[in-house]
Amino acid sequence: MVNYLDGNIGIDQLERTFVLENNKVAYKNKIPNTIYHHKNLPAPNYSGLPYNKYVSFLDVVNPMHRMWTDARWNKLTISHGCYWKQCSFCDVSLDYIGNYQNTTAVDLVNKIEKIIKDTGITGFHFVDEAAPPKMLRALSKELIKRNLEITWWTNIRFEKTFDFDLCQIMAQSGCIAVTGGLEVASDRLLSKMKKGVDIAQVTRVTHHFSQNNIMVHAYLMYGFPTQTEQETIDSLEVVRQLFERNCIQSAFWHQFTTTIHSPIGQNPEAFSIQITGPIFEGFAQNDLYHKDVQGADHPKYTKGLNLALHNYLNNAGLQDSLQNWFDFPIPPTSHPKGLIESFLEELAIK
Ligand code: SF4
Repeated sequence: MVNYLDGNIGIDQLERTFVLENNKVAYKNKIPNTIYHHKNLPAPNYSGLPYNKYVSFLDVVNPMHRMWTDARWNKLTISHGCYWKQCSFCDVSLDYIGNYQNTTAVDLVNKIEKIIKDTGITGFHFVDEAAPPKMLRALSKELIKRNLEITWWTNIRFEKTFDFDLCQIMAQSGCIAVTGGLEVASDRLLSKMKKGVDIAQVTRVTHHFSQNNIMVHAYLMYGFPTQTEQETIDSLEVVRQLFERNCIQSAFWHQFTTTIHSPIGQNPEAFSIQITGPIFEGFAQNDLYHKDVQGADHPKYTKGLNLALHNYLNNAGLQDSLQNWFDFPIPPTSHPKGLIESFLEELAIK
């Protein structure tokens, strides 16, 4: 901005800046951004925060949601943005997802040491969109090399790189939990949303984490465009079996909604939905309303899905019929009882 005001650059060279142009607010953002790079950012400075005055909440039974509010975690990002940036429901056109930038493990651990010095707290929540496995390996090795004892957790994609060895080294370096998107546990819809994982792969990866005592929380979704009633029930059955086999220990259902910045919001016809609102009123349009003409009546399942999950989280009702969670008739699942078991057996043979 100073360079622009000094007349050294033109208005279109500005980055991430709102300007008044012809009496209208316009956004100027030269891509790619050059004003900062993740690798050049200093450690966030939390010194002076009165940590001892913050109340530690134990407000919900969901074990992962509890971690967000119970205890103090230093917040830090391993990488900026998401290295995958393909999921069709995600805000991939925005900088915080689509602009992937990295740094080195040495730089990261230097920052970690600095933050511990500032705060005296050794718990870290790496608030990445999807922490890259390559960086997690390098980070874990660097923490072990420096003999730095911290406790940490982060968000990942359930991708196949997370084999037993990687999960083991992560656990040795202090990793206690991961969160990741299983979304709609249906291979047809996972492929439609370009998640880049399938149920078999999620089973193997979550099993590797769990074997190493790293707690796994799955983000779940229902109501994805064209999702049928059968697919919703089958998705619940996959979740039930994943809990039963201790692949996941925590999860949360979100009902799908589309945003203006996601591939679905930008091309709704390709996903067979109709956008019905809201009318843009000049500020921060994000969530859109839509009609899913081909899919099921999605809100109808909210109560039953949540009730089932609440029980599974508490290790209850795992053997109950899926019908028990709904007060209207549902179709039986089309999955065999041993679906998840069969993926784990394949792993044992390999
Ligand atoms: S949903 Fe997660 S993995 Fe997919 S593009 Fe967004 S941040 Fe990346």
